[in-house]
Amino acid sequence: MDIIKCPGCHHSSKRTLNGQRVVCKTCSKSKKCVFQFCYVCQREWPRDAMSTDECVLPNCALRAALLSAKQIDNPESSVRGCPYFRACPRCKALLTHDSDGCPYIVCSNCNEEFCFRCMAPECDYDECYDSDFDDNEFEVMKPCVIKNNSELLQQLGL
Ligand SMILES: [Zn+2]
Ligand SMILES: [Zn+2]
Ligand SMILES: [Zn+2]
Ligand SMILES: [Zn+2]
Repeated sequence: MDIIKCPGCHHSSKRTLNGQRVVCKTCSKSKKCVFQFCYVCQREWPRDAMSTDECVLPNCALRAALLSAKQIDNPESSVRGCPYFRACPRCKALLTHDSDGCPYIVCSNCNEEFCFRCMAPECDYDECYDSDFDDNEFEVMKPCVIKNNSELLQQLGL
């Protein structure tokens, strides 16, 4: 299970109320009122939604997937070390890479093509990858930098 992080104080918390609601003691103390957040999407629980235990915030499940610490760990893969889940930079659909072949992926929802590593629609990785498949070439190439999902969440305004 992933660590539950409070969006207010960034400390991990384990105490859950009912459903998806968590109370952070630290924040409640410093804010002098009860501070609750959703452990799934790790955002503050809306004050007008105190009667429900189900998160009403938009993109709750999508954020949860993107916040997951799960990574692609196949050593042979061009997308090794990437987060397991990505959101399409165009339509925000949740996508995974099957870890075969090049890092490019086509969104099944809107057909946007982008690099699973750096999230750019075009990157240099493809060229080095295709140029020559012997080991030396492979070593000198500089693969693009893997973008993490917290940047992606910001970029997409999620
Ligand atoms: Zn807190
Ligand atoms: Zn939520
Ligand atoms: Zn898309
Ligand atoms: Zn790339």
